[in-house]
Amino acid sequence: MAIATLDAARRDRGRAMTSVDVLIAGAGPAGSALAAALARGGASVLLVESAVHPRPKTCAEYASPRIVEELARLDVADAWMGAAVPLRGMNLYAGGRSTQIRYADGKGPRDAWGVDRRSFDARLAEHAVRTGAVLRERARLVSLICEGRTVRGATLRDQATGRDEIVSAAWTVGADGTRSNVSRLVGVDRPVRFPRRLGLVAHYSGVAGLTDHGEMHVGRGYYLGLAPTPGGELNVGMALSMGTPGQTANARFDAAIAGLPAVARRLAHSERLTSIRGAAPIGHRVSSAAGPGWLLVGDAAGFVDPFTGEGIHRALRSARAAADAILAGGDVAAAYRAQRRRAFAAKTALSWLVQGFLAAPPLLDRAVARLSSRPRAALRLGSALGDCRPATDALSPAALLEVFAP
Ligand SMILES: Cc1cc2nc3c(=O)[nH]c(=O)nc-3n(C[C@H](O)[C@H](O)[C@H](O)COP(=O)(O)OP(=O)(O)OC[C@H]3O[C@@H](n4cnc5c(N)ncnc54)[C@H](O)[C@@H]3O)c2cc1C
Repeated sequence: MAIATLDAARRDRGRAMTSVDVLIAGAGPAGSALAAALARGGASVLLVESAVHPRPKTCAEYASPRIVEELARLDVADAWMGAAVPLRGMNLYAGGRSTQIRYADGKGPRDAWGVDRRSFDARLAEHAVRTGAVLRERARLVSLICEGRTVRGATLRDQATGRDEIVSAAWTVGADGTRSNVSRLVGVDRPVRFPRRLGLVAHYSGVAGLTDHGEMHVGRGYYLGLAPTPGGELNVGMALSMGTPGQTANARFDAAIAGLPAVARRLAHSERLTSIRGAAPIGHRVSSAAGPGWLLVGDAAGFVDPFTGEGIHRALRSARAAADAILAGGDVAAAYRAQRRRAFAAKTALSWLVQGFLAAPPLLDRAVARLSSRPRAALRLGSALGDCRPATDALSPAALLEVFAP
């Protein structure tokens, strides 16, 4: 993984380096939340983003209820909630049956949220700057500076001028998403074998009757979500099999809608407002989320699939774990890995279980049919998927029997 030592890098470029406590590549939710938390804790932070905010992001824009708690820790929940659409939950359709996925924690029912990723992500990045982090846009992390196996910083490339800059840092953090350069450069990337899906999304207007909840429709070999977003728009997002060479994204998008008559009827008189954005494969796998001098947060540290509400919440939660570990000092990488295990292991197991059912349509259809007549079980599962209750609640033998027993 070593690209150069600090001295060699300095000699090659023949100029002084910028030096910070923490260099973060990627100003999505994970990177910006981490930058804000660290800057508030007194660290000097350089946050670099290859795009310019507000930038688009391929996302179904349906956010877990618990992102409110994460945003509140960053002191931005109030400002943010005013710009999001509260959603009672998600109606799930499969095999001709439906069930309501709703959320509740110890205090009662909880809303999920429809967000606009362009403004959501831009606001978080702005907040990081207000807190004291330095944000540099159009700057891409292109290589790492290492001494032995320890990462000591990185080379950044200005996207406008092509000029390189060396930054030395006690910690270099990859918050650079599913195609993370940092995870590749430190050598922890692993192939995504299952599920291998193509994600496509677009915004629509003029869709009546869908304002206070989302819908998830499972077709044969794919699923499609509808989520109201701010401004009266609707996010239409889908996860399809990767195959079918020669077919355009537009053709696949339209065919997926046509294959779900209930969705086709909903969208019949609507207008597509945006081009179709894609991501493939959706997932990302790594063998480790931290090592000497480096950490990975958000999707860069691994991402299974958005069906089970992975994503924005996990990005924010992992940023909190990374900030706590860095600010506490000591064995930061070990502390971060341990925090991730505590925070995510059970939910990851639940996500994989649901992926197994998605891959076996008759089992999924049966589970949806059973949940439709067992609201208590549906609420337990929904609350675990929405991070409102520990995922272990939905994984107990009794809970599993209630959902899946013949
Ligand atoms: C089809 C689809 C639907 C989804 N739907 C949902 C959903 O409904 N709800 C949900 O919660 N999640 C959803 N997700 C997942 C969610 O979008 C991600 O989990 C979330 O964006 C992760 O945030 P992040 O900050 O880790 O990464 P990102 O949001 O991807 O941000 C990474 C940033 O890094 C920048 N970057 C990349 N490389 C570099 C580099 N070398 N140097 C500098 N900057 C770099 C990028 O420009 C980007 O801004 C979905 C994902 C897909 C693909």
